[in-house]
Amino acid sequence: HLSNRLQTVAQFVPDHARLADIGSDHAYLPVYLANEHHIDFAIAGEVAKGPHDNASQEIQRAGVSTLVASRLADGLLAVMPTDQIDTVVIAGMGGTLITTILTTGFERLSHHERLILQPNVGEDNVRRWLQAHDYQITTEQILEEDGHIYEIIVGDPVVEPVTYSEQELLFGPFLIRDKSPVFVKKWQREAGRLQTVIETMRQAQPAPVAKIQKFEQRLRHILEVIK
Ligand code: SAM
Repeated sequence: HLSNRLQTVAQFVPDHARLADIGSDHAYLPVYLANEHHIDFAIAGEVAKGPHDNASQEIQRAGVSTLVASRLADGLLAVMPTDQIDTVVIAGMGGTLITTILTTGFERLSHHERLILQPNVGEDNVRRWLQAHDYQITTEQILEEDGHIYEIIVGDPVVEPVTYSEQELLFGPFLIRDKSPVFVKKWQREAGRLQTVIETMRQAQPAPVAKIQKFEQRLRHILEVIK
């Protein structure tokens, strides 16, 4: 059984993909895709020994070790040219860590790969990275599971560079168009959080005026989008 979150990530992996799942933990995603005969090959990359052992065990147990390779490596160092990877998943971490992994290991990739990214926070960093590296966002999803709201951002290489507006970078070009109930809920939550922060700052002596204005501007921006 896969979480809805990883199920949604799986949905964007092309048929017959050669997949690198970086930060795979238990390798649930590649094992599931191998069982479904959805992929031709996968790497379950892990930087930490515990999760790497978990991945190896899970792959053994599922009997998919001919299809899924468990590798202990930092980020994209798990990927070799001979792997001919065409799809990269980096899921379940902060957006800044995701972009660090991509930047650090970018020369490991051919730059033709599909990137399926699921940041837990800092989604705008991920979109900025894609834009700066000649990737275009081809689709996005937002979903709620166990009280958490997750975004999934799919990037594919472009020939012509794309420019996203600041609003699209912050909210997601597809998500802002859809304005799904989960999207609205996410930004209502963020608006509430900002209101609390602003209230607290107003009570400080002296009140940090410039900071308050910055937060108020962000709050107005959010309310404008979800009104
Ligand atoms: N991708 C899985 C998912 O979405 O359910 C697991 C997410 S888990 C919260 C994050 C994993 O990323 C951890 O197991 C951690 O060891 C791994 N990780 C963090 N930094 C990494 C890096 N630089 N290279 C490889 N794995 C990394």
